Amino acid sequence: MNKHLCPSCGEPLITVWQKLWLGPLRKIECKNCGATVTVPMLKGLLVIGIGSLTPWVFGFLAFSVVPKPASAVVFVASFLSGFILGSVLFFWFYNRYVPLVIKRVG
Ligand SMILES: [Zn+2]
Repeated sequence: MNKHLCPSCGEPLITVWQKLWLGPLRKIECKNCGATVTVPMLKGLLVIGIGSLTPWVFGFLAFSVVPKPASAVVFVASFLSGFILGSVLFFWFYNRYVPLVIKRVG
């Protein structure tokens, strides 16, 4: 699992999972240079807003392609697979397109 680099000093700072947890309302301090790093408020909120919907949309899409009538098991399985796919796509998108920014130089 590769790490995101500190935008201030270029040292590996946080893992992609830590970045997901970071969000625009949290910040993290670089142990190397002391800069406070976060994700941009507007972009972060936008992506989180879309991201919270994406798994549900994919879940319903996956269910919609299942032949009807479908049993409860098929319903749950198709919805979950779409939901997980949507989540994975969102994680990828978030890590790819939401940059880390320096909030305060240490
Ligand atoms: Zn740094």
